[in-house]
Amino acid sequence: LIRDGEAVTRAALTARTGLSRSTVSQRVDALLAHGLVYEADDSVSTGGRRPGRLAFDHRAGGVLTADLGATHSRLAVSDLAATTLAAVELEMDIAIGPERALRLVCDQWDALLDETDEPRGGIRGIGVGLPGPVDHTAGQAVNPPIMPGWDGFPVRDWLNTRYRVPVLVDNDVNIMALGEHRKTWRQTQHLLYVKVGTGIGCGIVSGGQIHRGAEGAAGDIGHIVVPDHQELCRCGNVGCLEAVAGGRALAMRLAAEGYPAADSRDVVRLVNEGNAVAIRIVREAGRTIGEVLAACVNFFNPGVILIGGDMAAAHGQLLAGVREVIFQRSLPLATRNLSIAPSQLADGAGVVGAAIMVVEHLLAPAAIDRALRASA
Ligand SMILES: [Zn+2]
Repeated sequence: LIRDGEAVTRAALTARTGLSRSTVSQRVDALLAHGLVYEADDSVSTGGRRPGRLAFDHRAGGVLTADLGATHSRLAVSDLAATTLAAVELEMDIAIGPERALRLVCDQWDALLDETDEPRGGIRGIGVGLPGPVDHTAGQAVNPPIMPGWDGFPVRDWLNTRYRVPVLVDNDVNIMALGEHRKTWRQTQHLLYVKVGTGIGCGIVSGGQIHRGAEGAAGDIGHIVVPDHQELCRCGNVGCLEAVAGGRALAMRLAAEGYPAADSRDVVRLVNEGNAVAIRIVREAGRTIGEVLAACVNFFNPGVILIGGDMAAAHGQLLAGVREVIFQRSLPLATRNLSIAPSQLADGAGVVGAAIMVVEHLLAPAAIDRALRASA
């Protein structure tokens, strides 16, 4: 309540929670002693001092985050409001394996910490997104198709041994969905975040929470089959959405027509240069993605669909195709109030979402209780 500014005095907290004044007072004192809350002195703004106004201290600690991609990663240090204090991009092939990759990540974090003067003792947690299915409870990847050596590697425990703070691991698209939801679409209960990059994946926010599914495989829309397509997918099936409309597939089609394209960023570059063939191919890809999403809309009835990932930089063309088909194919009731928009956080969605995942874990009532008991 204090963090969201919903109740910032002891009296307001008493009224809002229905707890007794002495209980509220005791809890607030504990939070003050713990450094998570401070008494804000707003005498400057009002001319007269009003004691007892409480504020959440978002600088009371830091969070280390990593949004790891197949070839391209983003690392950051955030405060407890999930505001990025320093960030760095890292060109790294995830296929070098977990130990080498995580050592590189730690080196970058250490450099970022020097840059931000955040004391190492002040780091309260770590959040990591991986580009594959993740067992969130165990904190490790499960059968990731593009990450040789990572299957079952204990990412959480490896980092915990090094930093001695809570470590949370999730699928990269899940943390992006969480970041966008909390920062931009908090009032929306049900949201889909579609990452269109080399491949295609989808993060699901249901009832305000990430929906991971029984095995952490929910939202893998890249391998839903598109009718009347025979393209071979890296998963071994034919006609998968990402084999038809993913960035790699589009780059291959452009290359076959004689244009210089090796990956999704080349496709975006050609679109932004006004290349008519690239524009047509991306618009078509949008329609194909729209076909799969139209079915998702009927099934899940989201309030918002966000398009992110490398290809979202060509979102004008991509969104046009997606919108066209969704509004044509989905049930009118399901699309009556549906918003379809580009990701606001863009490249930063992953690290922001990873920080939010950690902060929500650290500040959950049960975690605060444990921390207060441990220090009592
Ligand atoms: Zn597939």
